[in-house]
Amino acid sequence: MAIQTMWKDRLSFSDLEGKAGEETVARIERLGAMGCALLRFAVPDLEAAEVLGRLAGMVSMPLVADIHFDYKIALRCMDFSVAKVRINPGNIGSRDKVEKVLAKAALRNIPIRIGINAGSLPQDLRAAVDCGSLDRAEALVWAAERELELFRQFNFQNILVSMKASSIADTINANRLFSERNDTPLHIGLTEAGPLIAGVSRSTAALTVLLCEGIGDTVRVSLSDTMEKEIVAAREILCAAGEMAGKGFIAGEMEAARTGETGRRLSGKRGVSIVSCPRCGRNSFDTHGFTEKWQSALYALDKDITVAVMGCVVNGPGEARHADLGITGAGDKALLFRKGVMLRTIAASEADEAFAEELGKL
Ligand code: SF4
Repeated sequence: MAIQTMWKDRLSFSDLEGKAGEETVARIERLGAMGCALLRFAVPDLEAAEVLGRLAGMVSMPLVADIHFDYKIALRCMDFSVAKVRINPGNIGSRDKVEKVLAKAALRNIPIRIGINAGSLPQDLRAAVDCGSLDRAEALVWAAERELELFRQFNFQNILVSMKASSIADTINANRLFSERNDTPLHIGLTEAGPLIAGVSRSTAALTVLLCEGIGDTVRVSLSDTMEKEIVAAREILCAAGEMAGKGFIAGEMEAARTGETGRRLSGKRGVSIVSCPRCGRNSFDTHGFTEKWQSALYALDKDITVAVMGCVVNGPGEARHADLGITGAGDKALLFRKGVMLRTIAASEADEAFAEELGKL
């Protein structure tokens, strides 16, 4: 199962040069270490295609070009080493334009994702939904199957499909229905899921159902929040669904070829598990601030470990003892544990340095 996220802002050439370029590359590589196997970029015009093309030569992360309306942008993106192109054929234009895109994708062996969205259904299907003669989930499937038929007419088979809605029920029903009738790989996710808490809650409800039914080959949790939090959320949802279904989620064949070590590394492994207390009036250690500060770095580790971050001695030493690395408040000090053994007592101001040092020894 390949996790993906989407770059949140428009990139320009200046973002790829000098110190800014180093920071851009470092952030993308960090996303890869956290478990992101595919990174999608909106490509609204030809200049953005040139920027994406240059970036593709700077990072190891497979990049996906997301294109609407103009087939020439898709053609230009495929001059570069993009891992996938996402289009909505319904808004790419006439049949001959779609044919040109597919011909080049076939030549370059680039998969295409047919991205159907409830907010941009074809006009006839939208009208049928609006007048109540067609269920929205069925409309999503019909829209996808229409495009699949068009692709088949051009003998193009290197395809993924996504059918996204902001409704949990529509997302589940559309993906269920589609997978009953087709064996095309599916990218799954709830679109416009909302801010962090709402988005994670809603995505978890939809995705765990689909994942437990074996539906989905790539996944994205769309949040009005950072890419890093989307990756953490997706990883946790995959782990939770894996626990529920009693199985691990393994990258689909099509994606495995493209995701490289980063994508495969997550297969069958949980990675880091963070146990942190919610904090209460007894706390003498800022668990919220410490966890927020360390979260991305911990999720980027290629280690199956449990880390406990606790506020006080009520539950702190107990949890910290059971973790591979634990830190807990204790009066005006903090206690550091590694694999059940208390290592040292430190001042809160020394917590980051001591934690980093012990983490490096795991
Ligand atoms: S570990 Fe301590 S600070 Fe954290 S919730 Fe429990 S009692 Fe409160």
